[in-house]
Amino acid sequence: MGKIFVTQPHLPPLDEFYPYLQEIWAGKTLTNGGPMHQRLEAELCDHLGVQHISLFANGTLALVTALQALRITGEVITTPFSFVAGAHSLLWNGIKPVFVDIDPVSLNIDPRRIEAAITPQTTAIMPVHCYGNPCDVDAIQRIADNYNLRVIYDAAHAFGVTRGGASVLNAGDLSIMSFHATKVFNTFEGGAIVSPDAKTKQRIDQLKNFGFVDEVTVVAPGINGKMSEINAAFGLLQLQHIERAIARRREIDAMYRRLLGDVTGITCVAPTGQDTANYSYFPILVGPEYPMSRDELYEFMRANDVLGRRYFYPLISSFPMYRGLPSAAPANLPVATALALQVICLPIYPAMTDDDVERVASLFSLSERCALVY
Ligand SMILES: *Cc1c(COP(=O)(O)O)cnc(C)c1O
Repeated sequence: MGKIFVTQPHLPPLDEFYPYLQEIWAGKTLTNGGPMHQRLEAELCDHLGVQHISLFANGTLALVTALQALRITGEVITTPFSFVAGAHSLLWNGIKPVFVDIDPVSLNIDPRRIEAAITPQTTAIMPVHCYGNPCDVDAIQRIADNYNLRVIYDAAHAFGVTRGGASVLNAGDLSIMSFHATKVFNTFEGGAIVSPDAKTKQRIDQLKNFGFVDEVTVVAPGINGKMSEINAAFGLLQLQHIERAIARRREIDAMYRRLLGDVTGITCVAPTGQDTANYSYFPILVGPEYPMSRDELYEFMRANDVLGRRYFYPLISSFPMYRGLPSAAPANLPVATALALQVICLPIYPAMTDDDVERVASLFSLSERCALVY
């Protein structure tokens, strides 16, 4: 029996990729907004139901650029329960992150705690749709409007997620996506910013190309954030398979919920607030009633070649470059601190077989017995 990783990138059949490569070789445009890049932007707008997309080399450069595009400065309110790139993008812009605790059900930033964290230096809120579960975007927007703050969503997990009949990517001022190999939709490395109007997209497109407006005019200290034609071509191919890939994820999600629903001490984090989910992660919480601690269960799974991941542990706020901030104190983040010690994301990816899912689930009844001798 082989190892079961937390995810496995979805790779369409290789022979389907050759025609795209032939087209690139024939056209000899390798990057800088070539035909594959333009097609992928258009097809993604269509597929996701958004107005404007700017592709990026990765999600982190998209985050850094989104903050630049809106000229965010001072302090930004964000969640500690996420991937570290979010807070890093603030430091790269000389912005101070202010961590706010999460909601115990959605695991997203708790809107009820945002107002207390606002100071005269606050300019924006950067929430994350954690595991693809939409934030309470209405509550967050009300606060942003009251205090004249911008909202940039880290939507790295929210590919294809809809809420109230529309894409959740339309919420706030900007949304960023990641198309990293581990994500539901991947271009090997890649990312994007969703913007609401053509003017904002134009500024973002300039910023990702060194700030060039035309051959001789540079208007900002932009970065090189461009996606290459190979990556864009792979995205076009991937898009043709995405619905089947998500449908398989849905089946796996349902199997886990059926097999683990009755395990004492294990909570399968429920989808909240969306009409279409993408089943990108399968987080469980290991509670005190479970016979093993989270870390014992994690090690037990590893010993059985099931490589879950403790997303998101450690909290961003506990890394050395953040833990000195007043808002990083565990006492300020009791829910995130507690849940970071309970969470494990179980393997979920389209190529997972029913047998794989059963093998993962069987460890829970096994571990209940093994706990006595562990
Ligand atoms: C993956 C991820 C990112 C970073 O995206 P990259 O494409 O890897 O740079 C940012 N935020 C979250 C929440 C992520 O999961």
